[in-house]
Amino acid sequence: MSATVSSFTDMQLPEPLLKALADVGYETPSPIQQATIPPLLAGRDLIGQAQTGTGKTAAFALPALARLDLSQARPQVLVLTPTRELAIQVAEAFQRYATHMPGFRILPIYGGQGYGPQLAALRRGVHVLVATPGRLIDHLDRGSIKLDALTTMVLDEADEMLRMGFVDDVEKILEMTPAGRQTALFSATIPPQIRRIADRHLRDPATVTITSRTSTATGINQRCWWVGGMHKLDALTRILEAEPFDAMIVFVRTKQATEELAERLEARGFAAAAINGDLAQVQRERTIERLRQGQIDILVATDVAARGLDVERISHVLNYDIPYDTESYVHRIGRTGRAGRSGEAILFVTPRERNLLRAIERATGQVIQMMTLPSAQAVNEQRLVRFKQRISQALESEDLNPFVSLIEEYEREHDIAPRMIAAALARLVQGDAPLLLAPDPPPARNNPRENRERAGPGRFANERFDAGRDGASRKPRFDRDSRGPARSGTRPPRGGEMDATPEPGFARYRIEVGRSDGVRPGNIVGAIANEAGLDSSAIGRIGIRENYSLVDLPENLPAPMMAHLRNVWVSGQRLKIRPFVPDAEWQRGGSEGGKGDERKQAPGRSPAGRRELRKPPRRPRD
Ligand code: AMP
Repeated sequence: MSATVSSFTDMQLPEPLLKALADVGYETPSPIQQATIPPLLAGRDLIGQAQTGTGKTAAFALPALARLDLSQARPQVLVLTPTRELAIQVAEAFQRYATHMPGFRILPIYGGQGYGPQLAALRRGVHVLVATPGRLIDHLDRGSIKLDALTTMVLDEADEMLRMGFVDDVEKILEMTPAGRQTALFSATIPPQIRRIADRHLRDPATVTITSRTSTATGINQRCWWVGGMHKLDALTRILEAEPFDAMIVFVRTKQATEELAERLEARGFAAAAINGDLAQVQRERTIERLRQGQIDILVATDVAARGLDVERISHVLNYDIPYDTESYVHRIGRTGRAGRSGEAILFVTPRERNLLRAIERATGQVIQMMTLPSAQAVNEQRLVRFKQRISQALESEDLNPFVSLIEEYEREHDIAPRMIAAALARLVQGDAPLLLAPDPPPARNNPRENRERAGPGRFANERFDAGRDGASRKPRFDRDSRGPARSGTRPPRGGEMDATPEPGFARYRIEVGRSDGVRPGNIVGAIANEAGLDSSAIGRIGIRENYSLVDLPENLPAPMMAHLRNVWVSGQRLKIRPFVPDAEWQRGGSEGGKGDERKQAPGRSPAGRRELRKPPRRPRD
């Protein structure tokens, strides 16, 4: 937590926004929000260096909403995002914060969606647009979007837009907006190209960097679970059931989440309670005392509520929601390992939060080990142990005699073996909840799903295609920055540098757009990422040939995704993606031409070099 904890009220945000923040349960502004909201409210340009997960969406959405004129249903705020997924998330966040702003209208604009609904919504009028660059340029070219009333422009994840090849589009869009607009640029890193954009298009920007104090937590064993394939609640339950612990603090982000999670844990039979900033001091103290006395074992808490908490029996801290910054992380895990004891810290990380994890590792100077969730078998063993303990405890009680007579009578009357009667009674005790978990599916060799999990987060940003098993449990083998040409940071990947075979878990595909079409790897990454809903880091190496290109993608992509990708247009060519069958020439060293130029000229060829889906420039009928 940062030293100066101001409140949203201190920031003089309008009442409807404060009400919405109370609804969503944000207690205090996160560090990036504290630093950026005041200058943005004052109308200044801003460069914010912050990762996803730090609360940066609210950092720009709240001041943008505060400055909006609802009587003008024309785009006043434009947020550019690298992916459609982020566009949707940002639009949803705006919508949440604008709950008490009647008449507020926002529209996400991204590739892969029909033009019809977008055009209809535009005709009705919108206040805020959240767009991916390629599709927005289509609309600007068609004249279906005008930016002359724009007052605020936000570039979100600018470095990711650069990586995905959108930088020219971003510049073009900036040039089409009014000169007097306010501009906020958010980026996890500020490479030179982003710096140049800032120098050219921002005026005297305030600069905010969320730096993290380095500190180490000794005596605390830190582990991390990649969220995927299983709900966090089920994962938490498995840990609570199978991992020996004394007392545990589970950290979440909002007040509501503390209450919801505590209730759900109680419903599953755990002794849990919530503490959050709404609790009066005496109540908070009482709850902590119950934890100390062992009347409860699990506290579900927000950062604010857990400040200064010092209870020796806390053996575990579980970060159910990743904290915004490394300071909070260090503070949170410091709630365990008290009084010279050792402690366990577990962190749940979703694919989108992988950068925060890296920041935590960098700042604490420690690598956080990937953990496997306890298997169904381990959970079941514990359940049986506990059930037997309950039987033993019941047998120790002194008032069994009336039950013994009852069972003897039942046995005589029904001629049923005592063990069957005992089983029926055990069934009654268990109630409707199943005694045992279904066994986990066996680990399959060469199972692409498993490969994907092993490869860690960022393989698939889109959960629709990420229904893997639980326990994505290893450090990513394919780090974004070490995955060869296709993901070498801000340096655009070059064609022709592919290994003879793709990396494990990947398959090689051929697409019918090549150097002669003016395509660059960034165009391909951008189009495939946005159209297929794949995280750009799930796109492997790219080799550009004269008349076609090769791209490594996760194996066994779902058929509907492939069908969609076949029809995607990039640099004026339909991708016609299909599995690549290496021919003799390729194996000799990847010579040009492949199977020869078998393409037909695409109808409506557009100028080369577009970075997102290029549909033939045909006007929609509606
Ligand atoms: P972002 O970095 O914008 O993707 O936000 C990450 C998550 O933090 C989102 O789930 C937000 O709802 C949540 N969040 C943002 N600001 C706050 C806050 N001040 N208090 C609690 N949660 C927040």
